[in-house]
Amino acid sequence: MEQPGFPSPLKKESRRTMPRRTQLHPLDSTTLPYIMTAISSCVQEEAGSSVLSGKPLSIYKLFQENQMKKGIITSVVGVCLLALAAAPAFATDLTADQALTKLKEGNERFVSGKSMHPHTDAARLALAGSEDQGKHAFATVISCSDSRVPVELLFDTGIMDTFIIRVAGNVVDTDEAGSIEYGLAHVNTPLFVVLGHTQCGAVKAVTAATLGHGHPLEINIPPLVDNIGPAVKRAIEKNPKAEEKDIVPAAIVENVWQSVTDLFMRSAKAREMVKEGKVKVVGALYDVSTGKVEWLPEDKVASILAEVEKNPKRQMQAMADEGKGHEEHGSKKEEHKAEPTQEKEGHGSVKK
Ligand SMILES: [Zn+2]
Repeated sequence: MEQPGFPSPLKKESRRTMPRRTQLHPLDSTTLPYIMTAISSCVQEEAGSSVLSGKPLSIYKLFQENQMKKGIITSVVGVCLLALAAAPAFATDLTADQALTKLKEGNERFVSGKSMHPHTDAARLALAGSEDQGKHAFATVISCSDSRVPVELLFDTGIMDTFIIRVAGNVVDTDEAGSIEYGLAHVNTPLFVVLGHTQCGAVKAVTAATLGHGHPLEINIPPLVDNIGPAVKRAIEKNPKAEEKDIVPAAIVENVWQSVTDLFMRSAKAREMVKEGKVKVVGALYDVSTGKVEWLPEDKVASILAEVEKNPKRQMQAMADEGKGHEEHGSKKEEHKAEPTQEKEGHGSVKK
């Protein structure tokens, strides 16, 4: 039985559009373990009753013992398979577009109050404890830490579905870029989403500071949100006569693109994976008052990548051991920011 948002691997269309990894038998690597576990537990149940009756454990002997027992085992296995046929079948090898469709459909369920809360049961936990998340997770997402942006809930995803980085202002600095690289290169998600949100406090704070009426910030906050500065400046430049309340929404969208820019500036690996078609990068905006995700134009990412490729300050090394040590990489933190220099001064004034 097919469930909304989780296309069955049995679907012909899905199999046709599955170029990323090895084409799988209709009973794919997610479905098959469920079936094997169920058959195993059913058979063990029969074997257990045999032990109680003092008879051998061997399934072969159980089948040989008598036709009646054989019939019982066949029936139990049949019932197990019927139960599994009614259970959701989840594809593990999704293309980026299929992964994006799942997120879109999950958000539609969330908005309409029809969330399924998939992959939150004991079977999924058992799978999480025994299998590599890279076989299951289909999207890496960076979002704001804001309590109004619960990523798994708003996309109606569960355990081992989404690899998530949450940080105030959904900024991409060294730690976030490293986490994203892990999500793309090791968890193997074909999709990366930068999810901004309406009413973002981090963007509001930087906008206020940039317009000259910010307020004192705790010592670690300015270096955290300085990535947002270039986005706010672009929003002001594009809306020179707008009031602050109207600049903030534009700055929030610009900040999504800033995070894409900062990732590409910092990560040669991310650029490479996008260029090779292994990963799709998408910007999105979450409305905290409606729960709806607005998907931003996909072609914008290609133009950002093209711009970054022309920037001599972009990181060229894809791997940590390409001739330089970790400490030196750390010291390059400022070097790979798109517009890193002026923001420090700007935030200094915030603290006065
Ligand atoms: Zn926020």
